[in-house]
Amino acid sequence: MLRASSILTNTDLQVEPEFEAGLDELLDACRQSLRSVDEDMIRRAFMLGYWAHRNDRRASGERFITHPIEVAVIVARDIGFDDISVVSALLHDTVEDTEFSLDLIREEFGDTVSNIVDGLTKIRGVSWNRELGQAENVRKLMLSMATDIRVILIKFADRLHNLRTIESLPKQKQLKIASETLDLFAPLAHRFGLNAIKAELEDISLKILHPEEYRDIVRSLRASKVERDGYVGRFIKPLRERLESDRFDFEMAGRSKNLYSIWRKMKRKDKPIEEIYDLLAIRIVLKSTGKKGKEDCWRVYSIVTDLYKPLPERFRDFISVPKSNGYQSLHTTVLGPTGRRVEVQIRTEEMHAIAERGVAAHWKYKEPVSDRDRGMEQFLVWVRDILENPNPEHATEFVKEFRLNLYDEEIYIFTPKGDLMTLPRDATPVDFAFQVHTEIGMHCIGAKVNGRMVPLSYKLQSGDQVEVITSKKQTPNPDWMKFVVTHKARSRIRHLINEKRRRSVDLGREMLEKKLDKAGLDVEEQKLRRAANLLKFPNAQQMFYEIGTGLFDAKDFVEFVRNESRGRKEEEEEFAEQEGLRLRYENFLDSAQVAARPALEIDGELHTDIVTRYAPCCNPIPGDDVFGYISRSDGIKIHRVNCRNAPSLLVNHPDRIVSVEWSRQKDVQFLSGLRVMGEDRVGMVSDITTVISKNLKTNIRSITVDSEDGVFEGTIVCSVTDLSHLRRLIERLKRVDGIHGVYRFEE
Ligand code: MN
Repeated sequence: MLRASSILTNTDLQVEPEFEAGLDELLDACRQSLRSVDEDMIRRAFMLGYWAHRNDRRASGERFITHPIEVAVIVARDIGFDDISVVSALLHDTVEDTEFSLDLIREEFGDTVSNIVDGLTKIRGVSWNRELGQAENVRKLMLSMATDIRVILIKFADRLHNLRTIESLPKQKQLKIASETLDLFAPLAHRFGLNAIKAELEDISLKILHPEEYRDIVRSLRASKVERDGYVGRFIKPLRERLESDRFDFEMAGRSKNLYSIWRKMKRKDKPIEEIYDLLAIRIVLKSTGKKGKEDCWRVYSIVTDLYKPLPERFRDFISVPKSNGYQSLHTTVLGPTGRRVEVQIRTEEMHAIAERGVAAHWKYKEPVSDRDRGMEQFLVWVRDILENPNPEHATEFVKEFRLNLYDEEIYIFTPKGDLMTLPRDATPVDFAFQVHTEIGMHCIGAKVNGRMVPLSYKLQSGDQVEVITSKKQTPNPDWMKFVVTHKARSRIRHLINEKRRRSVDLGREMLEKKLDKAGLDVEEQKLRRAANLLKFPNAQQMFYEIGTGLFDAKDFVEFVRNESRGRKEEEEEFAEQEGLRLRYENFLDSAQVAARPALEIDGELHTDIVTRYAPCCNPIPGDDVFGYISRSDGIKIHRVNCRNAPSLLVNHPDRIVSVEWSRQKDVQFLSGLRVMGEDRVGMVSDITTVISKNLKTNIRSITVDSEDGVFEGTIVCSVTDLSHLRRLIERLKRVDGIHGVYRFEE
């Protein structure tokens, strides 16, 4: 059996000088950053790693051992946790890639190292196996965190080195790794407070995903560098003098934001790089520690704002209230010489270490658990809690949390096969479907996101795996236009809808011509258009379309044309009925408002002199089916047959009932009330009044309008001659753009 001791004592093992140099660099980094270093253990791990990978090469062709060495250097320098993690980093790829076994590692370095290497081996799949779905990947990552936090810390270093050397991979793989880094690893690194690593992960990913924009930012920063440096120099000079005369021990330098943050800000604010003002930023790091350190930060703050006018709305105190990842600092933005904005960050060395290296740094600056650590501890408690109650919902929430730090403008979506697709923010499954193929977009009826059915309007999120469900019968729905965001989807849907519409228009015209033929009517084009207009269609095309799609019955048009030519006859009433108008025959008509007394035939005799009143419970108008009720003191009251009081009157007082009929006299005007509901749009009132007074020659008594939240509600009282007049009025009003309902007034 292969034994670690025999490998380590194998005298044939010759390490080339360049890798010896790598080991020296690593040991240097360890001595500088770690509290204590078992150099012998690191040497042994190095030798074992060297031996295990002796025949391996990277995609670039270079010797594989360069990778674990570099990862270990990052772990030592940028994370600085402990020597165990450095050893684990040196061995992190051995079990997966070589004949090396975990037993061998356990034998030589004990359980802790072998568990960490085991954890790293297990989460390797996370980066590639998209089939598992994002939530499952995240669960794996969390599992590794709970086993030993060092697993995930080393994973960050591994990912960073893989990104630094990503050039030799095929483009597709690069895109996948970069998007996944922005998706998961950068936000996670941020959560651990590993800001230096996070910034580099982001910048390299940006370079891969948006090479042009990346180059533009680099170029423009380079172009303005001399000028910016000069300005920062002028800004710093008086400040340095003040701080020195007050005997502060400090370091002060211009600070550059990472490129990805600049890029995001440009996108978010839709501004060119020149206008992202906190490009100018300086940082003051104080050497003092503990309570004095905090106090010194505030003293320096007061000196800075003494010299330069602060913008109060840009002040942040992360010392009293640290960020959840432990970050502490004072931030202020001041107006420098010539009024330029400069962001100033003030913190102690210790706070700075935590800002750069997060969770790991408190090992170096060990002190009682402070607020700073509490955030991280809560985070880990939360992680453990989720793991102890495995539930896919939680994993999804976890993913969501990380997404707070995602691209604002783009999301990365995976096909069921694991291929990557870039879509704009707020993209829906329909956008995705059209992106895959027009045919799929045209026929999509639903979608599964991460295995669950979602509505087509669902807003996708980075990392979602989307499966589109199609049906041959489905065709694009105009409603899709309300939520799709990609140009491709929009233009295809519009095109398909137009095509479908054209077919419906042709069909509608054909149907109408047939109906007119059958009715023996020959309607010339101009008359046809006029009639369509009278029916309140914006144009004849729209009418053909509505006929073609069954929204409007060609028969009704035929009837309308026939009636138009015969004038207003009673048939028009039928027409209105055929229209399917379900009018509620309540009428607004206060008896006191009746100006003229209409002629009524009572029991077959024409009377114009009998006192009649119109019952306020049903407000009849000529045309309604009515009966008379002889009241004790108020003359004859006219009720509609379908009045809610009719049954009781007819049953209880049959002796008081008289039959009445409207006489054919048309010179009498009745007041009638209408309620109109629709969209609150410009010109609504004038369109309504035009329809009423111009088209129908009706007098408007009053019109009151209420609009709220884009909803229009109007009450119109106007004079009508009879029921068919009122119905025609209702019919016309219904065709006004944006009107959804027209009803006879109910008290
Ligand atoms: Mn690796």
